[in-house]
Amino acid sequence: MQTIDLLRQLSDAFGVSGFEDEVRELIRAFVSPHVDEIKTDALGNLFAIRRSSNAKAKTLMLDAHMDEVGFIVKWIDRDGFLRFAPLGGWDPRIIPGHRVKIQTRSGEFQTGVIGTAPPHILSAEQRKAPLSIEQMFIDIGAASVEEAQEMGVRIGDPLTIHYPFESLREGVVTGKAFDDRAGCAVLVETAESTAGQDVGVNVVFAFVFGEEVGLRGARTAAFQIEPDLAIAVEGTIGADMPGVPENSQPVRLGQGPAISIADRSIVVSRKVLHAMESIADAASIPYQYKLPTYGGTDAGAIHLSRGGVLSGIVSVPCRYIHSPTSTLRLDDFRLTSRLVTELVKQLPTAVL
Ligand SMILES: [Zn+2]
Repeated sequence: MQTIDLLRQLSDAFGVSGFEDEVRELIRAFVSPHVDEIKTDALGNLFAIRRSSNAKAKTLMLDAHMDEVGFIVKWIDRDGFLRFAPLGGWDPRIIPGHRVKIQTRSGEFQTGVIGTAPPHILSAEQRKAPLSIEQMFIDIGAASVEEAQEMGVRIGDPLTIHYPFESLREGVVTGKAFDDRAGCAVLVETAESTAGQDVGVNVVFAFVFGEEVGLRGARTAAFQIEPDLAIAVEGTIGADMPGVPENSQPVRLGQGPAISIADRSIVVSRKVLHAMESIADAASIPYQYKLPTYGGTDAGAIHLSRGGVLSGIVSVPCRYIHSPTSTLRLDDFRLTSRLVTELVKQLPTAVL
């Protein structure tokens, strides 16, 4: 499949933290042909496993999280408006004025709009005051709680602000969920590019749930897989944009994959970091460093599993993550895919 179609399908799929079913089924179909075994666990992680012919082989875990930031319906007002709570980290300033897709209990989608009081009726002071999520509401067209229920909407239904995938220009695309469907797409491409190859270790492609609400799936995944080495693949904080000084841009678009040195969740072992640098250099793959110590990733949970797991992080630079308009460059994505493929082939031998 073309990279752009893979990203489109993955970004458009619905997968708020804890409700990743649609994403999981899509990925299952993409990776099945390229691995020996596929399984899921009780909480919804998906493992695509390729075994080495060496019975004593060690295990490499590749991680990408399936979930995206979203919301959950927490109350239905008497007059039919929905109140909602965040699942994952949101900047309240960017929430009002968007359309949302609510996944009802039957799996169908209901459209809504995040309404706000018109500026015409607000005082100058009210217009300046920041809105909190508690003050916001969703209008689904229902005039009463009964009407909302007739439409199938219930407390506990998950929702996203939905923007369909689109190309801004040749090689630059925008979609609602590149954090971390970009990482999922890298893992799918890596499974394909290394298909049929015995790289000397067992390789487990782990597509995990619930990163955005606290690295939940990665923790239970690492416990089960017992990896000797792990690489988390993320869509991360591109901030090369007006108003942001260069020294505060965690990563930049157009500079290739970002290798993490340290973030809030991990200080990467020097052994792993140096090996990753050498492998990228030898393969002539340009890369950048993700500036310390912004953000956290699944590697934070994985490296603390059991007795400790050597872990690295490679990211696709994405602007506007944790918004419905994440944006990336396909050349960065392709280079990340290439780097992760090289790491699968070479990193275990280099560090284990
Ligand atoms: Zn992420």
